[in-house]
Amino acid sequence: MKVRESAEAVVYSQGVAHTELQIQESVPLAGYTTFRVGGSARCFAEVRSEDELLGAVEFASREGIGTFVLGGGSNLLVSDSGFDGLVIHIALNAPTEVKDDASFVEYTVAAGLDWNSFVHQICEQGISGIECLAGIPGSVGGTPVQNVGAYGQEVASTITRVRVLDLETREFVWLSREQCGFSYRHSIFNSTHRGRYIVTAVSFLFDRSARPNLSYADLQRHFGASATPTPLEVYHAVREIRHGKGMLIVDGEADCRSAGSFFKNPVVPESVLAGIASSVGVPIEKVPHWPAGVGKVKLAAAWLLEHAGFVKGFSMGEAGISSRHTLALINRGHATAADVEALRDAIRAEVRRRFGVELEQEPVNVS
Ligand SMILES: Cc1cc2nc3c(=O)[nH]c(=O)nc-3n(C[C@H](O)[C@H](O)[C@H](O)COP(=O)(O)OP(=O)(O)OC[C@H]3O[C@@H](n4cnc5c(N)ncnc54)[C@H](O)[C@@H]3O)c2cc1C
Repeated sequence: MKVRESAEAVVYSQGVAHTELQIQESVPLAGYTTFRVGGSARCFAEVRSEDELLGAVEFASREGIGTFVLGGGSNLLVSDSGFDGLVIHIALNAPTEVKDDASFVEYTVAAGLDWNSFVHQICEQGISGIECLAGIPGSVGGTPVQNVGAYGQEVASTITRVRVLDLETREFVWLSREQCGFSYRHSIFNSTHRGRYIVTAVSFLFDRSARPNLSYADLQRHFGASATPTPLEVYHAVREIRHGKGMLIVDGEADCRSAGSFFKNPVVPESVLAGIASSVGVPIEKVPHWPAGVGKVKLAAAWLLEHAGFVKGFSMGEAGISSRHTLALINRGHATAADVEALRDAIRAEVRRRFGVELEQEPVNVS
C-alpha cells in the first residue's frame, strides 16, 4: 500500500512492522559503479531485507516497469540513457550464520555484504578456499552470478547453495551448487535463467584441512618454491599482485575506473590456432592457449589485444586501456558510456579482422 509520496521518494508500507521501502526517482547510477559512467535510473530502491526485496519487486510489477538488480556495481557498463525501470540495490545484511565441526565449517552470508571483507574474515581464521579471490570488488551476492575466479580459484568450488527470490513464483528458495550450473565465468544466473532469480544469501563450505592454493605462477614467484604461507599471507599477496596490475580498487587511481577484465578469454576450435600463429609470424606454441574440452582451446584475450595494436595505456578520447592491464578498459575521468562502447567496438572489429576471433564482453550492459 502506498502511504506517502514526495518529489524525491515514495514510501511503501510492506504490511510488516518496521519495514519501510523508499523508492527514489531519477537516481544517477555512475556513482554506484566502478566504471563511473552512465545515466540515471528512473526508480531506485535500496533493499536491506528479503521483505523489502519482495516489496520492491511488487512495486515494479504494479507500476508495470522492469527491474535491474545492482550489487557492488563492479561488473557493469551502464548506458548513457540509464535504466528506464526500477534498479534494486542489494544491501541485504542479515548476520552471517556459521555451522562448525572439527573438519568443516559452513558460512551463510547475506548477498549485500562486501565480498573482500568476507574473504578477509575467512583468511584471518586460517581457513583456505577463497584466499585467491581477495581483492575482487563487489558483493557476496554478485559472486555466483559469473562464478568469479582468479589466481587458480573459482567461487563455485566452495559454494554449497544459493538462496534466491524466484521471480516466477515470488518465493524464496535454496538452489544447490549443481542447480546453479557453474562453469568458467558462467552460471544459470547469467545464462539460461538470467533475470529469473535474485540472490539473497550464499552458503560456503570450507575444509579445515585444506591448504592455500598456490597453483598460479604469480603466487609461486611471490612466495618461492618451498614456502607454506598462511591463508592471510596469500590474501595480502593476491591484493599486492592485483594492485601491481591495476586490478584492485584504490581511490584516486585512474586505472581503477574500470569493470575489471572487459573481455572473456575466448574458447575456439583448435584449428583456429594455426591461422593466428601465421598472422603474427610465430610458431603455434608461442600463441598462449590452454585445453578447453575436446578439440577446443582457450586463448588469452590480452595477447590478442596486444597483437592487434591495443596495448597498455592506449587511449581513444576519454576511454582507454589501463596502463597496467591490457584487458581492463578504463574511464580516463570524463568518459561517457558511448566512449567506452566505441573503444570496445574498435577492439572487437580489429581482433575479428586480424584473427577471426569474436571477443565476448564480460561486464553486463545496463540499458
Ligand atoms: C578492478 C576489478 C577487478 C575485478 N577482478 C575480477 C576477477 O579477478 N575475477 C572475476 O571473476 N571478476 C572480477 N571483476 C568483476 C566483478 O568484480 C565481479 O564479477 C563481481 O562478483 C561482481 O559483483 P557485484 O556485486 O559488483 O555485481 P554487479 O556489478 O552489481 O552486477 C553484475 C551482474 O550480477 C547481477 N547481480 C548482482 N548482484 C546480484 C544478486 N544479488 N542477485 C542476482 N543478480 C545479481 C547484476 O544484475 C549484474 O547482472 C573485477 C572487477 C573490477 C572492477
